[in-house]
Amino acid sequence: AADISTISEKTLNSILEKNRTYSTQGKVADYIPELGKMDGKAIAFSVVEKNGRVVNVGDVHKKFTMQSISKIIALMIAVNEKGESGVFDKMGYFGTDKPFNHFSNLETTGKPLNPMMNAGAILTTSLISGEGEKPFLKILEMVRYITKDQTIDYSKSVYESEKSTGHRNRGMFYLMKNNGLISGNEDQLDNYFKQCSIELTAEDLAKIGYFFANQCVRFDGDAKYKNEEVAKLVESQMLIAGMYEFSGEYARTVGLPSKSGVGGGITVSVPGRMGIGVFSPALDQHGNSSAGYHMILDLVKQYGLSLF
Ligand code: GLN
Repeated sequence: AADISTISEKTLNSILEKNRTYSTQGKVADYIPELGKMDGKAIAFSVVEKNGRVVNVGDVHKKFTMQSISKIIALMIAVNEKGESGVFDKMGYFGTDKPFNHFSNLETTGKPLNPMMNAGAILTTSLISGEGEKPFLKILEMVRYITKDQTIDYSKSVYESEKSTGHRNRGMFYLMKNNGLISGNEDQLDNYFKQCSIELTAEDLAKIGYFFANQCVRFDGDAKYKNEEVAKLVESQMLIAGMYEFSGEYARTVGLPSKSGVGGGITVSVPGRMGIGVFSPALDQHGNSSAGYHMILDLVKQYGLSLF
C-alpha cells in the first residue's frame, strides 16, 4: 500500500469522482424537515495527517449539520467530568443490530445499549454539568477548539425542526427519566437537538477524526486535552456502534473507528495516523452517507489503512 504522506488532491479527487454516482442513489434525510432541503448532490472529501497537513477536495466550504457525530464530543466531555464509570453505570458498551433511533432495551434492562445510538446519546448529554444551555455550549466550545474555528455555530432552523419533530427522542428522554437515569427537565433534550444542529465542513470532521486518532491531541499539536484512555474509549465506541447496525459489516470492510450523522457526514480516525472527513447527504438504508462510505472504503484499500 502507498504511504499516506503521498495523499494529494489528485488522489482524493479521483476517488471522489469514481464515487460521485452514489450521491444520486441514496436519499437525503427528510424525517427532520429542514434536513430535507439539503442539496443531495453536494460532496466533499478531506484528510488531515501529521503536522496538520490538510488535503481537501469537492465542496470543501459547504457546511452541514454534524448530527450524530456530536455524540463522540458529548461522550468525551461527560467522561472527562464524571469518569468512565459515572457514564457507563447508566448505559452499556454494546453494539447493536437496531437503527439509531430504536428504543432497544429501555423497556427491558432499562438502560441504553451504548452512547452512540440516540437513547444513550441523549442520556450522555444530560450527564454534562451545568444549567440550561450550558452543557450544549461546552460541546460547541469543544468543537470550536478541536477544529480551531471560533465561527462554528449551530443552525437555529435545523434545531427548531428537530425539536418540533423529535417525538421519538422525546419519548426516550421521558422513558429514561421514568427509569431514574435522567433527572433534569426538557432543556437537556434541547441540548441534544442543538448539538446535532452544529454546522461544520468535511475538513472539520477530518480534524475531529484526527483528534481521537491521536490521544485527543489537536491537529496543530495542542495537547491541552491529551488523554489516551478517553481517546481509546471513544474510538472503541465508534468502532462497535458508530455506524449503527452497519458497524459490524463496516468493521469488516473499512476496519476503522468512524462516526456517521444523518446530515451526510462521516468522521474517521486512523489510530495514531490521521483523520478523514467526508460529506454527501444522500444516505443508505442505515442512515449512513452512501458516497461517503464508498470514498472511505477506496482510500482505506488504496493506503492499507484498516486496523486488521
Ligand atoms: N438529530 C438526529 C436524531 O436524533 C441524529 C441522528 C443521526 O444522525 N443518526 O434523529
